[in-house]
Amino acid sequence: MNPVSHLLTGWVVANTVDLTARDRALVTLAGVVPDIDGLGLFAEILTEHTTSPLLWYSKYHHVLCHNIGFGLLLAVTTALFSVRRWMTAFLVLVVFHLHLLGDLVGSRGPDDYQWPISYLSPFSSRWKLIWTGQWELNAWPNVLITILLLTATIYIGWKKDRSPLEMVSKRADAAFVSIVSRLRSP
Ligand SMILES: [Zn+2]
Repeated sequence: MNPVSHLLTGWVVANTVDLTARDRALVTLAGVVPDIDGLGLFAEILTEHTTSPLLWYSKYHHVLCHNIGFGLLLAVTTALFSVRRWMTAFLVLVVFHLHLLGDLVGSRGPDDYQWPISYLSPFSSRWKLIWTGQWELNAWPNVLITILLLTATIYIGWKKDRSPLEMVSKRADAAFVSIVSRLRSP
């Protein structure tokens, strides 16, 4: 799935219970944070034509942070920094697994590579998860999922006067809320 869908999945799940803004942010960010293992892409592109290219993207994307070890690390870190510790850590685990599920069903690359997920890593190398029906990253089901998540985000904005923009700018968040609140009948 694309990063926007991952982020909005986190946001929608974070709003299923009553959390503080910080706890909501932690759950929302858990939706995208596994993809930091893809940042090696920059190193790989920059060193592509050198004598010792760094294959950090090919080697580590969907490997380093797409496993239960990282999920547990994320949950423990969340518990340390959140207000409703247990609930927030639980929702982080839910969102983390939805990220893996999203990648499993819809992240096929243009080269047809399917990015198997070593779920039990680093504890075991068994269980390389893969789904042969996996659709491409830009296929219509992913577009549909993004549209549904955006609709849910607008609904939350309308219902609860908040949006994921609260994590970056109070003004942008207020502007978004003021637009969606116009959908209310007078
Ligand atoms: Zn991912």
